[in-house]
Amino acid sequence: MLPQLLPSRPRLSLFKIQRSCVYDGPGVRTTLFFRGCNLRCLWCQNPEGQSPSTDTALERGSSVDEIMEVVVRDRPYQLESGGGVTLSGGEPCLQDPRSLVPLLERLHRERIEVAVETSLDAPPERIGALAPHVDLFLVDLKVVGDDELHEKYTRRDPALIHRNIKGLRQAKARLAFRMVMVPGFTDSQRNIEATSRFLRSVGHDSIELLRYFSLYEEKARRLGLKTPALHITPEQSLAALERGAARFRQRGIAAHSVDLDAPRHRAVFTRRVRDIQRDIRESPRAICLESSRLKTDYYQKLRGFEKPTPIHRAERLAYLLRHKETIIYPGELLVGNFTAKRVAAHAWRRSDRDTPRSSRA
Ligand code: SF4
Repeated sequence: MLPQLLPSRPRLSLFKIQRSCVYDGPGVRTTLFFRGCNLRCLWCQNPEGQSPSTDTALERGSSVDEIMEVVVRDRPYQLESGGGVTLSGGEPCLQDPRSLVPLLERLHRERIEVAVETSLDAPPERIGALAPHVDLFLVDLKVVGDDELHEKYTRRDPALIHRNIKGLRQAKARLAFRMVMVPGFTDSQRNIEATSRFLRSVGHDSIELLRYFSLYEEKARRLGLKTPALHITPEQSLAALERGAARFRQRGIAAHSVDLDAPRHRAVFTRRVRDIQRDIRESPRAICLESSRLKTDYYQKLRGFEKPTPIHRAERLAYLLRHKETIIYPGELLVGNFTAKRVAAHAWRRSDRDTPRSSRA
């Protein structure tokens, strides 16, 4: 007798899972980047996620089990920091609720909070199906109060977004609003005035401002995507963020941004340290066998690869510094650290027999 086949759920279309994020909602988060978006924002930071599918017809998507297997690895950090999981993209609300809702239910069973970073340009039925399972909607506003300009910059009329904001407010969903300050595009007096009025009209008096970065342009070029270059420098981007925050505050809206609020410490180096830095930069790439032996020890003894990347990198460095040989030359106060040199690659030692005697001083 043939086994009875159960209808399988559609698989979720992800292009990246990023662990230990601190920009996508409160605390430490695991961010899931979903494919597909109706908008084409000129400044989209993830252009590789706009298309609903890759060019490979064999792309099979991810199951809820496969995603959970990665997400729960960071559960202790998420719980400890008041973080959770953020659905991002692309536009996560375009995913099929028959698969997305079971994922959200599983996350809640694990006591993991869920935030959704969204433009809200998605069918209202899909957003309505997700809303009861979402702890926080992070709504990315683009252009407010000028539908033509919105369409020019994103290639979509904002009517659906307005409708969904209304629907979520009626459903008493928890909303927070964000906006990327793109110099010459979103940071105008007009846009900020209209956004401030809109925020007050929906009972909000704060907004998170995000700094514009142009790194995606290089990524798009490598992937052969037709993304226009905006020719915005980092200095212009920071100035727009500062100006935008001041304009919002003048209008009684509390604008906050990790790029402005975090204390900035400017290191002051002596001439001698600057000379050493220059020598390190200019020296040829090399491999430090002592460092590879210690790194291997760290990963074997302390199971580093099971931890989130920033954690195992920090622990690995601490391990290296605790165990590294130091040679202090007469008159030197600075202890040289070979690992600061740009290396050709990480070299992993397999066993003691692989370590040349010359590397054990
Ligand atoms: S809504 Fe987000 S993912 Fe979609 S094009 Fe705009 S920035 Fe990119």
